[in-house]
Formats: sequence, C-alpha cells, structure tokens
Amino acid sequence: MNQFNSSRFIVDAMLVKLGKFMRIIGLDTEIVDNSIADDLVIQQVIEKDRVLVTMDKLLYKRMQKKEQETIFLDTDILEAQLIHVLKSENIAFLIEDIDNPISYDSRCSLCNSLLKTMVKKEVKGKVPETTYTSFEDFWGCQNETCGKIYWMGSHWRGIRKTITSINDSFSENR
Ligand SMILES: [Zn+2]
Repeated sequence: MNQFNSSRFIVDAMLVKLGKFMRIIGLDTEIVDNSIADDLVIQQVIEKDRVLVTMDKLLYKRMQKKEQETIFLDTDILEAQLIHVLKSENIAFLIEDIDNPISYDSRCSLCNSLLKTMVKKEVKGKVPETTYTSFEDFWGCQNETCGKIYWMGSHWRGIRKTITSINDSFSENR
C-alpha cells in the first residue's frame, strides 16, 4: 500500500531524470514521448487526467488556461524538483525503509509498473554472473514485456542519498 496520496503524474520529455526518480519513490508517473508536439501533450494530459510537471513556461500557461492542474519547475536540481512536486501535492513524504522498495510501492524506472520481490534463483542467467554472486536481494518489474531486474548495486548509493535528503527536508517541517 502506498503511504502517499493517489496523485498521478505526467512529466514532459525534458524531465526524464525526474520522472524516473518519481517512479522509484512510488509515484505513478508517465513520461511524455519527446517527439510529440505540445498540442498532443496537452491532449494526453487531459485525457489521462494526470498532473503535468514541466519546465516549459509556455506549456504551463496553456495548461492553466485549460484549468488542468500543472506543476511548473524553475530548477534543474533533481532534489529541489522532487521536493517541489511533493509539496505542491501536499504529500507528507517519508520513506522509512529505503532498502525495501516494495514497502513504498516503488515502480520500474523504465516503464512505471510496480515491482515485485524475486527469489534469487529466478534471476539466475538474467543478471551478470558477478551480480548474481554478489547480491542476495532482487526485484523485478511486474510487467512481463519489460522484465527489468533491479538490485542495490553501486547506483543505489546515490538513490539512497537523495531519498534520505528528501526525508530530512520534510522532517524539518514536522
Ligand atoms: Zn518495467
């Protein structure tokens, strides 16, 4: 169960990095295809009824005219972007068990599907041999056509640090 509210987001193509991180922390987030025109973006957002997150002022203004909830970001610093999105939606952010992605409904950063815990032997042959021998815990994307497998390798340190820092910035206001 997600501890956060049920906001669903869509980020524009300039915010892929943010979108992927939003998925990791359990926010249902679509990422707009970078080849589509603004008119199509607007149409998609309205049809899907998701909150658009954008750094494009013109697009933001157009969305306001349509009275569609939109979050405008004027920073390209990931942490600041995340905090702005969470506060805009009044999300009382706290991830207690960072190393247990299932506990906060972490999503696949590639396709936005939920993750599932995998038994070690299920990933044999699907991850590099050195990874298989070095790690005990694996998670997989529930979407079988994606099938991405995750483990807490070196990149996880950066993710953990960012989540800790967002936790801290919210706990200061508690
Ligand atoms: Zn996936």
